[in-house]
Amino acid sequence: MQIGFDIQQDEAIANTMQVSALAGRYLQVFDVPAALKNGAICTDWLADPQTLIVGGGSNILFVRAQIDKVVHLAAATFGYVDELNTVLVWAEGGLGFDDWVRWTTHQGWYGLECLAEIPGTVGAAPIQNVGAYGVQLSDVLVSVDVWDRVQQSRSVLPAAACDFGYRQSCFKTESHRWFILRVTVRLRKTPAPDWPRLSYPGLVQAADVYMAESQRPLALLTPHDLAQVVTRVRRQKLPDWREPRLGSLGSFFQNPVVLNSFAATLKARWPDLPVYPQGANNAPMGEAKLSAAWLIEQAGWRGFSHNNAGIYARHALVLVNLGGATGADLWGLAQRIQADVFARYGVRLVPEPLIINN
Ligand SMILES: Cc1cc2nc3c(=O)[nH]c(=O)nc-3n(C[C@H](O)[C@H](O)[C@H](O)COP(=O)(O)OP(=O)(O)OC[C@H]3O[C@@H](n4cnc5c(N)ncnc54)[C@H](O)[C@@H]3O)c2cc1C
Repeated sequence: MQIGFDIQQDEAIANTMQVSALAGRYLQVFDVPAALKNGAICTDWLADPQTLIVGGGSNILFVRAQIDKVVHLAAATFGYVDELNTVLVWAEGGLGFDDWVRWTTHQGWYGLECLAEIPGTVGAAPIQNVGAYGVQLSDVLVSVDVWDRVQQSRSVLPAAACDFGYRQSCFKTESHRWFILRVTVRLRKTPAPDWPRLSYPGLVQAADVYMAESQRPLALLTPHDLAQVVTRVRRQKLPDWREPRLGSLGSFFQNPVVLNSFAATLKARWPDLPVYPQGANNAPMGEAKLSAAWLIEQAGWRGFSHNNAGIYARHALVLVNLGGATGADLWGLAQRIQADVFARYGVRLVPEPLIINN
């Protein structure tokens, strides 16, 4: 082992879609300061735009199975700084995101509970500004410590510099520039005035059932309780990412964002189409967000499969590997769905994961 890092040859790349992917050379960083200071090899690899950074592989579809150089951040320490009514909580990028969320909710801190059960690493979470149930990481994010692969320097980006949007950030737009080392969030020690913000109908019902089981009123719901409720709801409709027999990357397509006028035209023709107006559900100004799941389901794809590449029977937005499908099989199916939805509704579905296909 080198100082702070380690290199393996021909290493399988773990990914929750369960497709075969091999790194010719695989560099794991265990100690960031040591690796960046003493390991010119690390900084040389990071300077090469062909080098792929991989976290938990829960948002990458490997259509190409062979990657030359992969960097994986394994450093995973975390901690917090106490403030008056809040806490500044930080974690290195190699920590499991769900482990981090669970730890904060166990402390009774408010802010990350709706993001429970999202797989992957802390370091990848700002890339697409992970979100669920109307909450996004950017709601609590304070700063991101980065290694700038172009400038070859370490810096701290405040949230305002990260250009966060719905499933967007500067890290996604400048995809070969940033290596995320550490993330810091500010969480509340006491509930916000609008707590609990149960904006999704399924969540309200599940919270009622959960609290009834423990014979407590909803008013006593804690961050830990809400994380448990979110976990239950998610497990009913999403494949379990800890279970290797059914591969998935969660939602495969982003909810399309279209001009308000176009959304109104679609709504007039298909009154059941869920349309979230600007401001609601993180839709940007002047635009509306459509339900990609509805479009795919109405087009008849839910439950479809071919060559073990399929659409999950419980959720139309989830592309699944039923066993042995290749990245090419899965990407082929995704492209068929994109073409079909465009032909029917004139809406372009944009994949959420990174597609490695050339
Ligand atoms: C069952 C399931 C449910 C999911 N539910 C949700 C959900 O509710 N909401 C949501 O937003 N997402 C969801 N996802 C998607 C996924 O979990 C997130 O996008 C997650 O943040 C990806 O983390 P990862 O470590 O696996 O990243 P990877 O898949 O390894 O990488 C994703 C991207 O991040 C880059 N990257 C990874 N680590 C770093 C780093 N340290 N520095 C710079 N770049 C890096 C990679 O190069 C790649 O571009 C779900 C996925 C699954 C399988």
